[in-house]
Amino acid sequence: MSPEEFRRHGYAVIDWLADYSARLESLPVLSQVSPGEVRDGLPAEPPATGQGFDGLLADLDSVIVPGLTHWQHPSFFAFFPASATGPSILGDLLASGLGVQGMLWATSPAATELETLMLDWLARLLDLPAGFRSDSAGGGVIQHSASDAALVALVAALHRVSGGATETDGVAAGRFCVYTSGQTHSSVEKACRIAGIGTAALRKLDVDPDTLAARPEHLAELLAADVAAGRTPALVVASVGATGTGALDPVAELAELAHRYGAWLHVDAAWAGVAAVCEELRWINAGVELADSYCTNPHKWLLTNFDCTAFWVADRSALISALSILPEYLRNSATESGAVIDYRDWQVPLGRRFRAMKLWAVLRWYGAEGLQQHIRKHVALAQEFASWVAADPRFELLAPHPLALVTFAVKGGDDPDETGRRVLAAVNASGKAYLTHTVVNGRYAIRMAIGSVLTERRHVLAAWQAICELLPGED
Ligand code: PLP
Repeated sequence: MSPEEFRRHGYAVIDWLADYSARLESLPVLSQVSPGEVRDGLPAEPPATGQGFDGLLADLDSVIVPGLTHWQHPSFFAFFPASATGPSILGDLLASGLGVQGMLWATSPAATELETLMLDWLARLLDLPAGFRSDSAGGGVIQHSASDAALVALVAALHRVSGGATETDGVAAGRFCVYTSGQTHSSVEKACRIAGIGTAALRKLDVDPDTLAARPEHLAELLAADVAAGRTPALVVASVGATGTGALDPVAELAELAHRYGAWLHVDAAWAGVAAVCEELRWINAGVELADSYCTNPHKWLLTNFDCTAFWVADRSALISALSILPEYLRNSATESGAVIDYRDWQVPLGRRFRAMKLWAVLRWYGAEGLQQHIRKHVALAQEFASWVAADPRFELLAPHPLALVTFAVKGGDDPDETGRRVLAAVNASGKAYLTHTVVNGRYAIRMAIGSVLTERRHVLAAWQAICELLPGED
């Protein structure tokens, strides 16, 4: 593709995306295709000769778009949001076009230095402890996902509790333990499997039945029992905004216990953490100053397209010592000077994209005020939605909802959980809105997660009306 062809097709792609965004609201939120339909719409054989680009955009319209669930749709209320905004898409396009691979400072100093600065900016915007900033013993890095953040936190924790022995000796079965609540995202269990300590190393903390927050008393019991049995507590993971219900663990109490037993405290604030851009929501940071590591995802609720997990550590040496291997072919004078950051030592892969570019574009475009408005709007909409649920005798709220996730259930009738299942299926099949579910204290719960950039009050109201209209009556 020559530069002129690139320019022509590039304009067409941007036009296509701008049109897509403008017509999103007319599309069903949840894809209506059957399994295999998308694949059957495309040739089984790869092209023998080059085909140009125009046909790809035509296939995009006719085959791919019907097979999309539209995450940017204003009536997307499922899972958690995954925002893609103009500035982040353009920032990402620039990163793709530059095509640099910033595994070492030396392989593109600007990629590393912009990333370090963006993580420092974000730490300031979220009012995170100064000890996470790069001018301290800590620092920040962009990980692919919150799951990667949990994994590297675990590897750093194993390094620290073993005095570095895990790097050479591996992990003996049954020796190390990890603690987190039953509300915590499954990525912590996956991290245990990948790190080789296995699911058996994971201890699930009981939660308070009202707040769904981890009970520190249970953590204290488990830590004492494991130590008495000769095992080593390695990691405690606290959730700030757990996936199912948005539960917030008491970070300070969990951290104090973790540290008493020499364990690492990681905070998973993948969805909720970015809410701290608003001063009035900074209470969610309580206790974070005691954390060894912390992550939040701008790619969920902070206007930045996937992938962009911000991950900070209070002591970068534990992370770097755990992950650094310097083969001959990567040696260079900048690394050996010790004066630069090589982000390859902060993550699982060697190679890395220039993800700081899109974060830079987002932070510059919106500024602190724009980010705050975005979060405040969703929090206010969620509070209004929760008030409708609370006022309707056919429904009940199942969990605290201080941010933009409302978890509720159908009440009454012979089998309210089955009624809840049916109404959710009907709403999603209608294409008018897309919501997902969880289970809270044994109850089938519908989750309303507000966070799409395009969502207005009328979309939230329409979703509520669809839920009420499609609620099956008593048979
Ligand atoms: N942690 C929490 C609290 C989450 O809600 C999620 C995903 O929704 C994750 C971790 C995993 O996120 P990622 O896709 O970035 O690995």
